[in-house]
Formats: sequence, structure tokens, C-alpha cells
Amino acid sequence: MRVLGVEGTAWCASAACYDAEADAVLIESDAYEPESGGIHPREAAEHMQAALPAVVERVLAQVDGPIDAVAFSRGPGLGPCLRIVGTTARALAGSLDVPLVGVNHMVAHLEIGRHRSGFSSPVCLNASGANAHLLGYRDGRYRVLGETMDTGVGNAIDKFTRHVGWSHPGGPKVEAHAEDGEFVDMPYVVKGMDFSFSGIMSAAKQAYDEGTPVEDVCFSLQEHIFAMLTEVSERALSLTGSDELVLGGGVGQNARLREMLEAMCEQRGADFFAPEPRFLRDNAGMIAVLGAKMYAADDTLAVSDSGVDPNFRPDEVPVTWRGDDED
Ligand code: ATP
Repeated sequence: MRVLGVEGTAWCASAACYDAEADAVLIESDAYEPESGGIHPREAAEHMQAALPAVVERVLAQVDGPIDAVAFSRGPGLGPCLRIVGTTARALAGSLDVPLVGVNHMVAHLEIGRHRSGFSSPVCLNASGANAHLLGYRDGRYRVLGETMDTGVGNAIDKFTRHVGWSHPGGPKVEAHAEDGEFVDMPYVVKGMDFSFSGIMSAAKQAYDEGTPVEDVCFSLQEHIFAMLTEVSERALSLTGSDELVLGGGVGQNARLREMLEAMCEQRGADFFAPEPRFLRDNAGMIAVLGAKMYAADDTLAVSDSGVDPNFRPDEVPVTWRGDDED
């Protein structure tokens, strides 16, 4: 079985083909890079419209054999981008005369880690640009065990780097500058299973404005934010009794975050897995892989029901592709 995946929730126009028999994923992507500032929804949609046909063509040119279904990201994401992805996927499914599969982007970030690790029922930390969630499976749904009370984790880091005048995305620049930094105190906000990043973001901007070396701010931002994510991940493992943790999302490319999560898992005897970077940042490979599981479970969509949803939460998705005995 081969599934064509189409992704475009924000900055990454991406297409992929997942060949289930070979367990092989072919991905072609084209990133939107704003000239200044953060992601502008209209510019991102213009990029999506211009770039998506070319990445789809590049994938189809390399596929040797028929496509059985077309999967696309229905949300969450920027509405103007999602509408282009939805239209592209409907047109492709119609012209190839195959079923359409609508995939939740956050569940795809989780499922790619479960798929690549072979873990049965892990807790997942989704650390992406616009989101930050702890997810765990229970009774046919991925439940949100903990989440950000304000901004997504990557967006918080990017807002600080915009203030400093660095180009988007900010995460890799913070990671590079943190190497030479020293610790300064910043707000650490965990409330039960939830966390908040708005206070630390303002504190980081203020510290920089008051002359704290940018390396120290970057180092301390990472130490605080990643410690918050690690604390709540540990609590989620404890709450669910799971001994498996997977990481998803673009911030998961950060070596310090992975190091902290790995150390925490090692201390409690849990297994930790982070997929390779091409599956962590936004990509159509994860859409195609989950799309194949959904297609195999007959979880397809009529065109009339295939509208996109910018606020599509992971716990709204009935999980049709896992056996009833998995909890
Ligand atoms: P979502 O998946 O929630 O829609 P998104 O579309 O913004 O989020 P992702 O590709 O998951 O996309 O994540 C992008 C984010 O990852 C950006 O905020 C970027 O700064 C951050 N990021 C990328 N590399 C690193 C890194 N090495 N360290 C920290 N953050 C990083």
C-alpha cells in the first residue's frame, strides 16, 4: 500500500509517499522563510500555494507504482494555509481516483514517534512551534494530559529571538548561543500538568534589554523551558504508569531538550525515543504514515466532510487504527 501525504499547516509545504510494505518514507519539502519578523499568515499561504504543486510533483516523479490514498493535514494550523492543503488533497484524490484521509497534525507528530520506536503505548511530548502538549492514549482517544496555558513552546522562543533581531526560526539560534552561556534566574511556571511560557518570554526580553549577555539569556531560557517540559513529562509517565516516552515537534530537534528527557527517563527506568529531525519538524512523511494506518482502518473522508479545522485538537480524534486491547 502506498499513501501520498500532503502537509501545510504553517511554514512547511511538504509532500511525501509512504510505502507500507517497504516501510519507506520519501519526503519533499519547501520551507517559507520570512524576510523579517515571524510567520505572516498571508505570506505563508502564498508560499503554500506556490510551493505545494512542485513538492507533490517531485514526490510523484519518484514513486514507482500506484497510490492507494491521499492523506492531508486538516489542522490545527493557519486557516489560509490549511485551505490550500485541503483543496490540493481533494484535487489529487479526485484525479487519482483514490480515497481521502484527513489527519490531525498533532496526532501525526505523536504517531510517527510510536511508529519509528515500535513502542506500544507511549506518553508523547509534543514540543512544536504553535503547541506544547503531553498526550496519552486511553479508551479510544489521545487525551491531553498537560498543555501550555498560553503560547506554544517554539513560538515563545521565536518571540524572544525576534526581539533580539534574529531571523525566523529562532530555536536553532538560541541553541547555538546557549553553548557559551551561564545560568540566570527566570520565571519557572508549572501548574499541575500545565505550563506557561509568557512570563519567561517577557523576562528574557527584559534581561536582554537590561544588558544580560544574550548567551546567558539563551542558556537560561533553554534550562528553564526544557526543565518545565521534562517535569511535566515525568509526571505524565507517573500518572499513566507508562514506561515509554516519545518526543514530537520541531523543538524536539534541540539536543539539550533530548538530553534532559533522556536523563529523566533513564533515572526512572523508562525508554525514550526521538525520531530523526526530518520527522520532528513539520513534514508530510508523518501525515502519510498516519494516513496509511487510518486508510487501513477504513477511516476515510467524503469530500463533502473534508473541511479543515484550524483549532483541531488531538483529543477530538476517534482513534480508529489501534486495536481495542491497546490502552
Ligand atoms: P505545529 O507543529 O505546532 O503546527 P510549527 O508548524 O511551528 O508547529 P514545527 O516544525 O513543529 O512547526 O516547529 C517549528 C519550531 O521549532 C519553531 O518555533 C523553531 O524555532 C523551533 N525549532 C527548530 N529547531 C529548533 C532547535 N534546534 N531548538 C529549539 N527550537 C527549535
